[in-house]
Amino acid sequence: MRKKGGKNHLSVDRTIFWIAILILAFIGVILIKVFAGSPKTFYYEYTGLTMGTYCRIVVSSPNTNSKQLAEILFKELERIYHKYNVKDPNSFINQLNSSQGWVDLDEETFVLIDSALKFANLTNGAFDPALGNLISLWGFDKLDEKLPNDVPSSDAIQTALMKSGYKNVELDRRTRRVRLSNNVRIDLGGIAKGYALDRAYQIAKEIDPDCTGFVEVGGDIRILGPKFGSRPWVIGVRDPRKASSEITYLYLKTGAVATSGDYERFFLHNNERYHHILDPSTGYPAKGAISVTVVSENAITADALSTAGFVSAKDWEYVVQEYPKLGGTVLMVLNDGTVKKSPTMKIYERKQ
Ligand code: AMP
Ligand code: MG
Repeated sequence: MRKKGGKNHLSVDRTIFWIAILILAFIGVILIKVFAGSPKTFYYEYTGLTMGTYCRIVVSSPNTNSKQLAEILFKELERIYHKYNVKDPNSFINQLNSSQGWVDLDEETFVLIDSALKFANLTNGAFDPALGNLISLWGFDKLDEKLPNDVPSSDAIQTALMKSGYKNVELDRRTRRVRLSNNVRIDLGGIAKGYALDRAYQIAKEIDPDCTGFVEVGGDIRILGPKFGSRPWVIGVRDPRKASSEITYLYLKTGAVATSGDYERFFLHNNERYHHILDPSTGYPAKGAISVTVVSENAITADALSTAGFVSAKDWEYVVQEYPKLGGTVLMVLNDGTVKKSPTMKIYERKQ
């Protein structure tokens, strides 16, 4: 009897042993899954100033040097900034604005102006890349200098409006030329950051298709690839009236997000806020929203539509319902603080 009992005890011990091994193996597999990749993926972070604002590049490049890649991307942002900065007398855009008649364009500028005109048409002129005279009358083109604090006279605004508007920009596709009429001046400030971010993405992927991370310029972001190869980047949408708090979080593995807000560049005059996003139909800062955030597949679309959505805020129902058809999912904070969203925004607000 005793012998039999001893045998039973031994087999129970063995069973417990094997169950313990199985549990440990299971925990091991789970831990490997959870941490796979993350300790090996090193993110290099580059911060700097460009395009009149701050820039952050967070990149991990398994096939090249992450630091060098970040520096190359920053140089590209700088190149685009200098080429299209209306305040730089030597910039290409300034030379174009001072030219008469048909002007030859390089391929990049042709495509950029073409895209800008496309967004102008799609948004019924809410996005208008030919507001240069109006923007400089208000003084909002002074990127690196102090902003003015005076409101222009209504006569001056009407005069600047007569010398504004994308309908005065003519492109000739065959000869790749542009002609500006009525002395309009092009200002690509509403689209340049988005374009620069898309270029940074393109260059990063040409150099290392496996790189991941993101590039951020003044709050606009282009994702290069998911965090640690599989996880979303968490992007806070700031409360436009409380700099350090967020109204929601977006979880993005790809694509881009851009925000236009009345807190970015503004001055106060007689307790009224005058900001840098102008309504082409009035010549005054657009009213209705305090911030508009757009998620899109690419940064140029997010950038153009966030500016346009801000201008069209009085028609917020149209913006949140129709902009997804133009490629942008919208979140708007209206003047009274209410938040309006495209129905598809919840896809990005969900932890994936
Ligand atoms: P964003 O911060 O992307 O909305 O761009 C604002 C910048 O775009 C301004 O500083 C101007 O250079 C330019 N801008 C202002 N109003 C408009 C408009 N209605 N359409 C296109 N660009 C604009
Ligand atoms: Mg914009």
